[in-house]
Amino acid sequence: MPSNTPHRLFINGDWLASKAGRYSEVHSPSSGALLGRVTEATAADVDLAIDAAEQAFEQWRLTTALARANLLLKLNQLIERDRSTLAHTISSEMGKPLKEAQAELDYCIDLIRFAAENARRIEGDIIPGSRSGEQILIQRLPHGVVAGIAAWNFPAALLGRKLGPALAAGNTVVLKPHELTPLSGLAIAALVKEAGFPPGVVNIVTGGIEVGQRLVANPKVKLVTMTGSTAAGKKIMAAAADTLKEVRLELGGKAPFIVMEDADLDDAADAAVRSRFGNAGQICTSNERTLVHAAVYDQFVEKLLARIKRLKVGDPLAADTDMGPKVSAAELDKVDRMVQKARQQGARVLLGGERLQGEAYDQGHFYAPTVLDGVTTDMEIAHQEVFGPVLSLIKVADFEEALRLANDSVYGLSAYIFTNNLQYLMRLGTDLDFGEIYVNREGGEAAQGFHHGYGDSGLGGEDGKYGLDAYSRHKTVYLNAGRTRI
Ligand code: NAD
Repeated sequence: MPSNTPHRLFINGDWLASKAGRYSEVHSPSSGALLGRVTEATAADVDLAIDAAEQAFEQWRLTTALARANLLLKLNQLIERDRSTLAHTISSEMGKPLKEAQAELDYCIDLIRFAAENARRIEGDIIPGSRSGEQILIQRLPHGVVAGIAAWNFPAALLGRKLGPALAAGNTVVLKPHELTPLSGLAIAALVKEAGFPPGVVNIVTGGIEVGQRLVANPKVKLVTMTGSTAAGKKIMAAAADTLKEVRLELGGKAPFIVMEDADLDDAADAAVRSRFGNAGQICTSNERTLVHAAVYDQFVEKLLARIKRLKVGDPLAADTDMGPKVSAAELDKVDRMVQKARQQGARVLLGGERLQGEAYDQGHFYAPTVLDGVTTDMEIAHQEVFGPVLSLIKVADFEEALRLANDSVYGLSAYIFTNNLQYLMRLGTDLDFGEIYVNREGGEAAQGFHHGYGDSGLGGEDGKYGLDAYSRHKTVYLNAGRTRI
């Protein structure tokens, strides 16, 4: 039984109650059980957190990179220590299977580790000046207060992905977990406190869209980094214009998954399934459109269906579960509506195509692993992000058609291709218009890579040295020693 006492806000190193006393409940998407109550922060609470972060920045920016890195590594040790309880929290509130929640924590740890390792490598330049004896220093300095706004599908890793590089670069942060999955963020806040970060360096506020809106509106916030839907990202970018703050947006996707005639079909089928049904299809890099060469189509579909039929759907906390529920009733309704519409538009259901029913499913938001055949580009499902366990099959005649259909999207985050044909591979750089391409493998970013999307998929990018770059700004100093001559 969860405690009836609502979780407080983590502000200035302390747990603060909101004067307004507004709370919301967090429920399991699998069983409907009440998991806890969290504070709905008001604008005044958010401002308090931002003030604390701004004040903490004065000292934090003067700390050495090594000191900041050591605190991040300490936080990692605590996440590692509490890995099984944290995984339980993620699974319970988000619905992903325990083994995926554990993998998410490993990924979160790795993102923070990369940031810590590279804190000492945030380097500038020294350029010879145009005057005798003058040097031009290009320094890399923190922005100040960074606001991190997260989606629900990776409640811990998305916070780590923002917190790690922001702190390594000398910023302070105010983080907002998604309203559906705030408990993982609050658990991380407790570890931040235990790790000994100075008060105000990390603040975590809970609540809905209004909390995010206040973070974006407050002029003391210098950079907003948000992961979420394209619609919300566009609103954030428009709102940030009022105070001309920098924005980094990691948004939706519609990844094509191309299987060419020479592909290893077993590997391709394994990866297609993992990249579609992992996290119940709720990953921005998910295989949203499976484009298969006509010569291997039937063989590939047979392999695919055999694998999908073996997936065990159910309680995310059970050790052998492969796929849990959708995160919410609204998300479940959206997926079913899209499938029924595709059906009306002429797609054939090879598997699933409906909500799961029965004792194990009735209290949760479960959808059957679904395969649609005969999907054509005029259908909504070929263009809008499904973000659910629905694999859409599209037959293509050749590589040219695969490229043309793959690029026919407003999104440009991830793409997949299975082939060993050098002629095809050489064209990925110029002809496949996505920020991140996986060749002969399933999805899953590396901490040292660069996760970034084109078009409606976002702006900026995260991870690796390019992601870290975003968390500092440049300062140019023309330095001369008083003996300058023009
Ligand atoms: P969402 O846009 O509903 O919410 C994301 C966050 O933004 C939440 O914390 C929410 O409270 C906040 N928010 C919403 N509107 C806001 C506004 N106007 N001002 C300020 N804050 C606001 O998205 P979601 O449903 O949580 O996430 C699903 C989406 O996220 C999918 O489209 C998925 O592809 C995308 N996603 C992208 C990546 C990536 O790295 N590109 C990673 C994970 C998820």
